[in-house]
Amino acid sequence: MMKILIVEDEPGISAFLRQGLEEESFEVDVAETGAEGLTLALSGEYDLLLLDWMLPGVSGVELCRVFRKSFRDIPVIFLTAKDTAEEAIFALQSGANDYIRKPFHFEELLERIRVQLRPKINDQSELTLGPITLNRDTFEVYKHGVPVSLTQKEFALLEFLMRNKGRVCRRSSIIAQVWDIHFEYNTGVIDVYINALRKKLALTDAENYIQTVRGVGYLAKE
Ligand code: CA
Repeated sequence: MMKILIVEDEPGISAFLRQGLEEESFEVDVAETGAEGLTLALSGEYDLLLLDWMLPGVSGVELCRVFRKSFRDIPVIFLTAKDTAEEAIFALQSGANDYIRKPFHFEELLERIRVQLRPKINDQSELTLGPITLNRDTFEVYKHGVPVSLTQKEFALLEFLMRNKGRVCRRSSIIAQVWDIHFEYNTGVIDVYINALRKKLALTDAENYIQTVRGVGYLAKE
């Protein structure tokens, strides 16, 4: 599970962010001051930092500068009310990977977080989707800890959907990525494999982890 540290002194905003991110299966810690945030951040146990710009005491920018001396590869996204180009440049120069202006749409922030975490998600050997775990090193799939036997293609399809958890996978990209077919092709084969997957994983209506997005494709969602 990916772990995010939010450093934000406005409780309303941090509570809103925490709830949204936890619903998206992130583990979340919140710090209310720059000093507290820096202490937690320097533990190195976070996959991403969300920093408010204006904080009491140590500012977000100062926090980011100090943090960057020890951790170069952990993404940092600023939440800022500032909107001039100069300040955006200042934020990026302090070592941030991205910034988003308040007020923002949660979906946009989520997308920016995913962009930053994508390389890491792609590196993970174990993927999860609700009670389902998939291990890319051992080619094993479990549901509630019980092994599920899949064919190679079913495994590849499930892996692709799980790697893109929370994002709609278009039929054309599924057929290109999983079947390696890059030309106009009857994509009906996908539905056959999706049905087989749902059956083998014993997915019920209450466990709709592989959702059909009509006319578009499929979505792995918790
Ligand atoms: Ca603030």
